[in-house]
Amino acid sequence: MLLLLLDFDGTLAPIRRDPGRATLAASTRELLTRLAARRDVALAVVSGRTVADLRRRVGISGIYYAGCHGLEIQGPGLRYRHPRAAAYKPVMKRIARCLKTRLDGFTGVLVEDKGYDVAVHYRTAGRRGIAAARRAAAEVARRHARDCRLERGRLVYEFKPRIAWDKGRAVRLLLSRFRSRQPFPVYIGDDLTDESAFRAVAGRGLAMLVDNPERPSRTAAPVRARSMSAARRLLLALTGAGCAWRPGR
Ligand SMILES: [Mg+2]
Repeated sequence: MLLLLLDFDGTLAPIRRDPGRATLAASTRELLTRLAARRDVALAVVSGRTVADLRRRVGISGIYYAGCHGLEIQGPGLRYRHPRAAAYKPVMKRIARCLKTRLDGFTGVLVEDKGYDVAVHYRTAGRRGIAAARRAAAEVARRHARDCRLERGRLVYEFKPRIAWDKGRAVRLLLSRFRSRQPFPVYIGDDLTDESAFRAVAGRGLAMLVDNPERPSRTAAPVRARSMSAARRLLLALTGAGCAWRPGR
């Protein structure tokens, strides 16, 4: 069977200036629905967004949603939450409050409390906002170094609980669930946080990076798609629609 693991922002949905406005195109939803309906395919969306947020934006039932970089995973017969995740909610709340206070008034800087982690988006910020976000992120991370680690994504800082967990571990968990069906994993993502997932499928499946201006200079993905639409064409080919796939545009 094919285990299709897809990041959301920058992979399935175009990156929007305001992350709250990212939407899945109707044609992509239709394509995913067709793939999910195949008996030899299991589909999972793996994202930094929460499961609730992903469900709302993707809106396909009967598939797997791995949210908050895999700290929570839900799907047919599976309701996983990392056993240590909930304990971090209060400290994440404090971190979010602290960042909001410090970054209040900087246009284009958005602090998002996702429960298990906190994101500082600076996609639409000007130079002052970007500098302020960098400073605040570094200071708050230092102050909470015992509880959280700071990671950089595509124009976002992410505060994650100090739990040895990432998208790669979430992918391994899903792989082990399907072990008896000998899954061939295909993971497609565009960001630094996808690198652990690329490594998780190395040697047993296919990892593909969707290229972008903020792409990691080094990547564990052996295949690069030049754009989201090139990645989309691979999905189309996987539906069996008979489309020959090329990694170019
Ligand atoms: Mg992404």
